[in-house]
Amino acid sequence: QPAALVAVSKTFAADDIRPVLQAGQRVFGENRVQEAEAKWPGLKAEFPGVELHLIGPLQSNKAADAVALFDVIQTVDREKIAAELAREMKKQGRAPKLFVQVNTGLEPQKAGIDPRQALAFITRCRDVHGLAIEGLMAIPPADENPGPHFALLAKLAKEAGLSSLSMGMSGDYETALAFGASHVRVGSAIFGGR
Ligand SMILES: *Cc1c(COP(=O)(O)O)cnc(C)c1O
Repeated sequence: QPAALVAVSKTFAADDIRPVLQAGQRVFGENRVQEAEAKWPGLKAEFPGVELHLIGPLQSNKAADAVALFDVIQTVDREKIAAELAREMKKQGRAPKLFVQVNTGLEPQKAGIDPRQALAFITRCRDVHGLAIEGLMAIPPADENPGPHFALLAKLAKEAGLSSLSMGMSGDYETALAFGASHVRVGSAIFGGR
């Protein structure tokens, strides 16, 4: 299975995204629910087969909107969000695929669960909330060699029995692929600088 390219279209307008859709790309990532709601319902209607990934932090008051719009939510990282997503998925009869975000660098300002708690959290997602977790996602610290972070994420996924690994951005996707990424999230290398 080749890795999937998630084209990260955050900050770009529908008119900038359309040419990428016309070129055949169908997998996209956005990091804000509200911004995505303004662009994607129209683009999804225009271009069948779009798979939209939420790659930014999710607030619990946006869980309903996220479940309604996104096909994959990559940023499940705490109990409250897991509970809220489970409730909304049941209510809406929708089942976006879910990834757990791991804060591999233990950065206080960054979303994601502490890697030491990741396995227990994944188990609780399954057993307490009834959520099937598909994979893991991480954003390594900007100023560090990403390799050890990708290796840690791959190790955790293996221990949890998960096959999907979302890691790697414009600057480091080749390294991420070498560490087994199943999804790379590439923005500026496709759309230009933000
Ligand atoms: C913006 C963003 C990306 C894409 O970053 P680029 O450096 O533009 O490729 C990837 N992942 C997340 C979580 C992002 O917020």
